[in-house]
Parts: sequence; C-alpha cells; structure tokens
Amino acid sequence: MKIYVIADMEGIGGVVSPSQTGGESWLYEGARLQYTREIKAVCEAAISAGAEEIYVNDFHGNGLNLVTDTLPREVMVIKGGFRPTSGYDLLDETFTGLVMLGIHARTGTNGGVIPHTYSGKLMFEIFGQPVGEFDILALVAGEKKVPVILISGDSKSLEQAGTNLPSTPGVITKYSIGTEGALCMHPDRVCELLRDEMKRAIRLIDSIEPAQISGAIQLGVKVADVCLSSRIEWIPGCRRVDNTSFEFTCSNMTEVINLVYGCSTLVEAKF
Ligand SMILES: [Zn+2]
Repeated sequence: MKIYVIADMEGIGGVVSPSQTGGESWLYEGARLQYTREIKAVCEAAISAGAEEIYVNDFHGNGLNLVTDTLPREVMVIKGGFRPTSGYDLLDETFTGLVMLGIHARTGTNGGVIPHTYSGKLMFEIFGQPVGEFDILALVAGEKKVPVILISGDSKSLEQAGTNLPSTPGVITKYSIGTEGALCMHPDRVCELLRDEMKRAIRLIDSIEPAQISGAIQLGVKVADVCLSSRIEWIPGCRRVDNTSFEFTCSNMTEVINLVYGCSTLVEAKF
C-alpha cells in the first residue's frame, strides 16, 4: 500500500497567523515543529496499519518546512519550491490514498483561519461552484483514481471540504473564530486524533470514492482587485465575463491546476 501525504501549514494545530507560517521567527520555528509532529503521527499510523511506502509533499511556501530527520525511515519527502507541478508532484495511479493535512478555507471565507486559494487575491469556481486548494487537489488525485482518505484543518475548512468529500474522515485541528484566530486544542491531542483517524481511514479505504469529474471543465476565476484583471487576460483561452471575472474551458484537471497556478503566479508577481 502506497500513501501520498500533502501537507500545508495554515491548518496545523495552533497556527492562526501568517507570522507563524514563514520568515525568520521563533513563531515559525514552533509552527514547523508542530507541522512535522502532525505529519509524523499520520505516517506512523499509516505504517502500523499496513502502508509500505509513503510520500510526503512539503507543499507549503518554499517546500522547506519539514524537519525530516524525525520521520519514520520509510517516508520519502518531496521538498523545495518551483517544482514542475507543485501540489501533485509524482502523484500517480500507484497510490492507494491521498492524505491532505493542514488545509485552510478558500479565499474570501469569513471566519476561516488564513483563508486563500494559492493567492488571497483570487477566487476560483468549477462549473460555478466555489473551489479551494483542497477541492482542486482532490479532483487532480481523483483523475488518477486516488481517493482522499483523510483531511485535517480548521473547523471552517473541514466544513467546506465536507461538501465535495463527504465520505472522507476529517480531523478538526482548531475551531476558527476569525481569519487570524481560533480556539486551539493541545498539540499532542491533535496528533492523537490524527493517529486514530489515519488508522480508521485505512480500514475504510475501499469505501472512499475518488472525487471525479469528466468531460470539458469550466473554470471560473475572479480577481479581488480590478487592477490585476488585465494580467489574467494575458493567458491564452481566457474569456472575460465582467470587470473582475474570467472563464476558461479545460479538458482535464491537470490543465485546471496549471491555470490556477499560472493565474496565482501572475497576480502575485511584482513588475
Ligand atoms: Zn500554505
């Protein structure tokens, strides 16, 4: 059994502010240790439940957050930034399940902790339904027939994920009370819950369906600032809907995620 773990930092236990998710501070150092502990808990539980191979994608920021020497020796880690496909590097049909750790709510979510979708300046929709990073990554994995078997994050992100991933076990790491605030439980308790749910997820694995979509996919993109809207028009295939909204038609989820990355890079770029 091969398990793929994709990990982000915003949804980790105790993380409530961008000052904890990057930079040279003790706040970041503390957060990356908890990030590592949560990943370790999931990997150990997966191995004890029969996983033979585990890939961990250090997905947050520059991909250099994880303290790898404390992880079980079976684990392989995908590290670094500017990788060819970032969120789904090396994810293929040979994996039995995908675990999404530390997720956060979509851009514009009132009450979600550090809500964004690759960029806080963009909102995305697929066939008119709002999607966040977790929805998009679940569909990319689904195209390769890999189901999302476990998800963790703040209470708001879990509420959102429940719509598209109703049969996936979830762990709430903290209860959101604002975009930079949450009621947090003890970090060891979060690890305990992750361990228990990971074992349960592996027992349930055959009953969890991959998230799938077929045929041409309509991707909607909305920019928060009209000044950034002309950048989106540089992308071939773009149709402007109104001052700040655009549409693309994609033939598969790889095209969708590449466009999502392209748009996010363009709006975040400094010229
Ligand atoms: Zn992140």
